[in-house]
Amino acid sequence: MENTVQVGTRFPLTIKRLDINGRGIGYYKCKITFVEGALPGEVVVAQVSAVHDRYLEAVTHRVKKASPDRVKPEEPLYGQIGGIELNHLAYPAQLQFKRDVVAQSLAKFKPAGWQHYDLRPTIGAANPTHYRNKAQFPVRVIDGHVRAGLYAPHSHHLVPLTTFLTQRPKTMQVVTALCQLLEDLAVPIYDEQKRAGIIKTLVVRESAATGEVQVTFVTNSPKLPHKAQLLADISAQLPDVVSVSQNINPGETSLIWGPETQLLAGQPYITEQLLGHNFEVSPQAFLQLNPAQTEVLYTEALKALDLRPGANLVDAYAGIGTIGISLAHAAGEVRGMEIIPAAVDDANRNAKLNGVTNAHYELGTAEDLFPQWLAQGFKPDAVIVDPPRSGLERPFIDALLQARPQQFVYISCNPSTLARDLVPLTRAYQVDYIQSVDMFPQTARCEAVVKFTRK
Ligand code: SAH
Repeated sequence: MENTVQVGTRFPLTIKRLDINGRGIGYYKCKITFVEGALPGEVVVAQVSAVHDRYLEAVTHRVKKASPDRVKPEEPLYGQIGGIELNHLAYPAQLQFKRDVVAQSLAKFKPAGWQHYDLRPTIGAANPTHYRNKAQFPVRVIDGHVRAGLYAPHSHHLVPLTTFLTQRPKTMQVVTALCQLLEDLAVPIYDEQKRAGIIKTLVVRESAATGEVQVTFVTNSPKLPHKAQLLADISAQLPDVVSVSQNINPGETSLIWGPETQLLAGQPYITEQLLGHNFEVSPQAFLQLNPAQTEVLYTEALKALDLRPGANLVDAYAGIGTIGISLAHAAGEVRGMEIIPAAVDDANRNAKLNGVTNAHYELGTAEDLFPQWLAQGFKPDAVIVDPPRSGLERPFIDALLQARPQQFVYISCNPSTLARDLVPLTRAYQVDYIQSVDMFPQTARCEAVVKFTRK
């Protein structure tokens, strides 16, 4: 009789390949098993962590036969926290994996001609560690001390961090110093069980170009006890912190940010430089997380777009206007849209800041605004889209197929939704090539630029 598999059951398993989340895939008695920390070609002892009807989840208990691509994880806390799921894989193999994720996604959705797409080798990072410019960490009291860090996988158990492999060092230094200040002043820290206390999350963002640091305290209420002293201490001890805000996010919610943000001290923005332009960024606005690779990504996107002089350009999912403003000198008119009000304000200010007079940004969704612009008679010659992980909304794709701009580039941070969106898009466009760029070394996340030619 077959043994029943339970959580904790161990068995040897041969790993065939990696799934899109970087987990090893093997078959235990014909049942697909996803094993964290296991690599293709390896034989591991897998320990079951969850049993499902059609598949098993497991962790690597022991490696019996190692892959030549296995390396010793550089992060001492590897295995205890998420966010570095490929740290045991040599960097060149991480890059091969990311190209393969694009291939796997295409094979699943099968957009027209997918077998023949030119999938270019993933462009790696010169520095595959300490790249993240933003730390967004929950804060808790542990053994009487204020700590910030990341949750252990599938839990709300906080693993405190003072350094982290993928974080820029200054982000961690500021997080650590802020925890000490909060502790010294006995500012109440949020307690998930009691649903009491004030400070929930610390957000620290650093500009790579200017060294300026932006701090946001996400709080459970508008109150912030000892606020004046806290701000005085930050000003005295952390000179790089030039912008301090409070975001109010009351109660139990899965969202990290609440609707309201108030400036507490300093200036509302920090300034980052990308491709020779200056960009001010508000606390709520999106900014790419890996500054060095952002320039690589944008350079690839601009090359793929191949803008004709005087062309009307749409910068869709614009954030703070980085892409459109970088191209405005060559364009006729640049229009962009974005759903975060602070980011739209940043984008319009950033245009002025860079002496750009032919770019403007509107508040609204791409799927609402783009069809409206077309209905008003606007004729886009070039469109660049950079949507969130959920990809493009169908009404936006339909409007794009109607407008059929000559130049079109898709920057994707999720190969699955990209492959899905390519199915309708390839009715009007041919995929010239897909250039993946590693924005998130040590993780399974994959970013890609798609160059299209109109059919
Ligand atoms: N291109 C920018 C931002 C990319 S991130 C950059 O490189 O920095 C994606 C952006 O799309 C975010 O700023 C997000 O707020 C915005 N967004 C999300 N859904 C949207 C929608 N439906 N329409 C327009 N913008 C959207």
